[in-house]
Amino acid sequence: MILFTDFDGTITQQDVLDEVLTRFASSEWLEIEKQWVSGAIGSLDCLRAQMALVQARTSDIETLLDSIEIDPTFESFLTFCFTREIPLRIVSDNFQWFIRHILNKNFPDYAAILKTVPIFANEVKMMGTRLEFGFPYSGGACTHGCATCKAEIIRKARETENDEVIFIGDGMSDRFGARQADLVFAKSHLLEYCHREGIEVIPFEQFSKIQRWVETKKQAPTKQKI
Ligand SMILES: [Mg+2]
Ligand SMILES: [Zn+2]
Repeated sequence: MILFTDFDGTITQQDVLDEVLTRFASSEWLEIEKQWVSGAIGSLDCLRAQMALVQARTSDIETLLDSIEIDPTFESFLTFCFTREIPLRIVSDNFQWFIRHILNKNFPDYAAILKTVPIFANEVKMMGTRLEFGFPYSGGACTHGCATCKAEIIRKARETENDEVIFIGDGMSDRFGARQADLVFAKSHLLEYCHREGIEVIPFEQFSKIQRWVETKKQAPTKQKI
């Protein structure tokens, strides 16, 4: 079993990029967001255009990141996956710097555990008061215009590891990833999407529910062939 999880709104309570844009970009970002929601542009074009509007200092952004709250049951989930050796991977249209900052801030004693959790996400660095980006997981076989193509990352994992894939998410950028998984845990927009599209889904609000599900599944006796 391999677990792939979204970050914003799934591990965190808020959407981090929405918070950054609300605080540090002109309101033009909302117009760009509408184009993404309507399907006119993919998340790559959306993010590029939106994040180019951001004007901030590193310290301002990190102060905002410090205020982001995490699902209170994620800490237990993190240690659970580590001790049971269940691969946990983060796939996100957020940026690696932001994600790492939030995880390190919330789990200062978990450096060794966090090292075992790969983060597939976009790259960003500050150039003065502007951001400069890189998109290492876009392109390739992606036909959706994704910044981070979750579908492609999951498809590759299935191909090479031949394992059951469980996807955990909440939003629009999770649609294509969810389609590639064997089972989806979803809330919010992704839950509605899965119901609409007939994708096998279990609703969840907190990671504690997923932990209980994995625990039960791992304890279930394997069927014996007669
Ligand atoms: Mg999300
Ligand atoms: Zn894609």
